[in-house]
Amino acid sequence: MILVLFGPPAAGKGTQAKRLHEKYGIAHLSTGDMLRAAIAAGTEVGRKAKTIMDAGALVPDDVVVGIIADRIDDKDCAKGFVLDGFPRTLAQAKALDAMLDGKKRSVGHVILMEVDQAKLTARVEGRAADARARGEEVRPDDTPETFKKRLKAYNEQTAPILPYYEGQEKIRRIDGMQPIEGVAAQIDAILSDEKSGKSRAYL
Ligand code: AMP
Repeated sequence: MILVLFGPPAAGKGTQAKRLHEKYGIAHLSTGDMLRAAIAAGTEVGRKAKTIMDAGALVPDDVVVGIIADRIDDKDCAKGFVLDGFPRTLAQAKALDAMLDGKKRSVGHVILMEVDQAKLTARVEGRAADARARGEEVRPDDTPETFKKRLKAYNEQTAPILPYYEGQEKIRRIDGMQPIEGVAAQIDAILSDEKSGKSRAYL
């Protein structure tokens, strides 16, 4: 099972991906988490990525494609994986298909989390306030100004991938504004229909 969780920043992709990892035992691949780990480790990739990420822009395709290419051959990806925050450009989507093709694998579903973008900024502000209240550090790109730039990058560079996946009949739309459990239930319904061969109902 190879899934792509698709949607703007703060749509809840990370939360759902984590749950899918726990429930189905598939690996959770978040390029954002991997880049933040590279920054924390002080690697060359991390140094290059930090300025770009702090500005709310996209890290170059070759960097993130390289990170994913290295990761999907790991043992924990054999059963499947859920991609969270990748692909973010059409070039990344095509590179992903090419690398999976070579391994006789392919993306199963692209789960599009439909959200009200006007409400996302408030969600980000809430997330930052919660983190601060817990005494945790707030991500430097979770400020309202940088979040606006991340949203713009999504609308201008990431959303244009959708026709590509529509052409492959892989998009499954879900209501991302529901509470976490409601969103999870919609994803589970897609996956259980896949097992019983009814997934075309979601095309
Ligand atoms: P995220 O945690 O998915 O919101 O990602 C945080 C930041 O990491 C993004 O705003 C980008 O700067 C960078 N990033 C993560 N994934 C990608 C990707 N697939 N392509 C380009 N940049 C990425």
